[in-house]
Amino acid sequence: MSETRSSEQTTASPLIGETQLYIDGRWRHASDGSTRDIVNPATGATFMTVDEATPADATAAITAARRAFDHGEWPRTPVAERAALLRRIADLVAANRAELSRLETLDTGKTLAESLIDLTDVESVLRYYASLVEVTADRAVDVGNPAVISRVVREPIGVCVLIAPWNYPLLQMSWKIAPALAAGCTMVAKPSEVTPLSTIAFVLLCEQAGVAPGVLNLLQGAGSSLGPALTDTDDVDFISFTGGLSTGRVISATAAQHITKVAVELGGKNPHIVFADADWESAVDLVLTGVFLHSGQVCSAGTRVIVEESIADDFVDALVTATSQIRIGDGLDPRSATGPLVSQAQLDKMTDYVASALAEGAVLRTGGGAPESADRHPGGYWFSPTIFDHCDRSMRIVREETFGPILTVERFTTEAQALALGNDTDYGLAAGVQTSDAAVAARMTRGLRHGTVWCNDFGYYTPAAEWGGFGKSGNGRELGPTGLAEYQETKHIWHNTAPTAPRWFTSEGTH
Ligand code: NAD
Repeated sequence: MSETRSSEQTTASPLIGETQLYIDGRWRHASDGSTRDIVNPATGATFMTVDEATPADATAAITAARRAFDHGEWPRTPVAERAALLRRIADLVAANRAELSRLETLDTGKTLAESLIDLTDVESVLRYYASLVEVTADRAVDVGNPAVISRVVREPIGVCVLIAPWNYPLLQMSWKIAPALAAGCTMVAKPSEVTPLSTIAFVLLCEQAGVAPGVLNLLQGAGSSLGPALTDTDDVDFISFTGGLSTGRVISATAAQHITKVAVELGGKNPHIVFADADWESAVDLVLTGVFLHSGQVCSAGTRVIVEESIADDFVDALVTATSQIRIGDGLDPRSATGPLVSQAQLDKMTDYVASALAEGAVLRTGGGAPESADRHPGGYWFSPTIFDHCDRSMRIVREETFGPILTVERFTTEAQALALGNDTDYGLAAGVQTSDAAVAARMTRGLRHGTVWCNDFGYYTPAAEWGGFGKSGNGRELGPTGLAEYQETKHIWHNTAPTAPRWFTSEGTH
């Protein structure tokens, strides 16, 4: 939690010269001098200290963004200049890939290989929205009168509050900042208090690229204390939130009092359905990576494998063998295939889920606790990839998002049963199907009520295709053309070039 700034504070990064708040084009300390220690999940030790914003800082950031939107040039800047700025930021991200990915790994615990993939994604989302906004044209509307020029134009929605989680800190934030800048909005970005470093570095790069004061403001700090100042206000026009279901509920309810538009990207409890005719080797490998990448701390992780009964025993045996060989270690060690959990809170949550699964009758096949610690730092948040067999929907572990490396196994005998199980969730973020039967694939991919459905693959996405959830996985979409439209208002302009009096209220009126 917050404490007074220490004079021994070091930044430990050549890129982050500042770990302060960025408000109205100036780096500044928190108004009450508070700071937060940032912990390396692989060691449990503090490796950096950053400023911790107060609600007064949040209000100052929103005021700056409001002023930049209402009186600044950015919303009225030509599209070509906006696109050029996005490309300059992308170039700087590319030039600083190594340090940005190192910071992401130190902060989240994920492996460097994963952080580098995230950085590729950050760069490509910036370039995608630069290109998209250049070709997004006004729409002419034929109103049946050649004297009327009628068109629908797109304008920036206004001041945006962008709130991101800790599992993909910069990637998730870039899915918001890139379209917001492309649309001409001004914004306040709030990364997770657990993992703010890559976003701080990114904002420094945006400043270098020439983002004007007030357009992009940055607050580090806890959502619980900053939330009301960021969401309970008439000065914000759009809130884009990615995080947990309960936080999404609070933000949506608060924003509703102001009729503020909200997009919420929430959790998932994602089914991965394996038919007996699936390609064996790829199915085993896709289930494994689909659930255990980033130690399962992925909103679209395929945590529920639903296997056809006839192959279930052999398939689970193959999964258990492969899982027990996953090498867990410090994300900076190239030999590590996956890293620690992000925090003690996550570790406690996994321990609780294991106890609950055992109490409800699930069969533990591998994992379930800390791995042997030989070459791992004892202070890190270590938890082994875990598989529970013989699970069903009555169990908490099958219904709730664990957000960790725990796979549950359910079984089916008919296609209808597989589909029903896949849709039997409050969430609806992502699903996977493994089958070599094209007709089954076609029926299943259309029948599953999830925002992304992979067939004979798992986990892939592209900036050009929408991302988001059905059901309690949220509303609104990121990425793709819809991801830009979220940051725009449409306006219908009706311009009569040959006006005539309507004469509605005169005796000659036609009604
Ligand atoms: P969280 O809800 O605890 O926090 C998310 C962000 O919201 C953080 O920045 C936090 O500080 C802030 N916050 C917390 N309370 C707030 C409040 N009252 N007002 C305003 N902001 C507040 O979630 P988390 O633990 O950081 O992230 C994990 C969750 O994110 C999981 O449920 C995961 O599925 C979800 N997630 C979803 C997607 C997606 O694309 N759907 C992607 C990544 C993560």
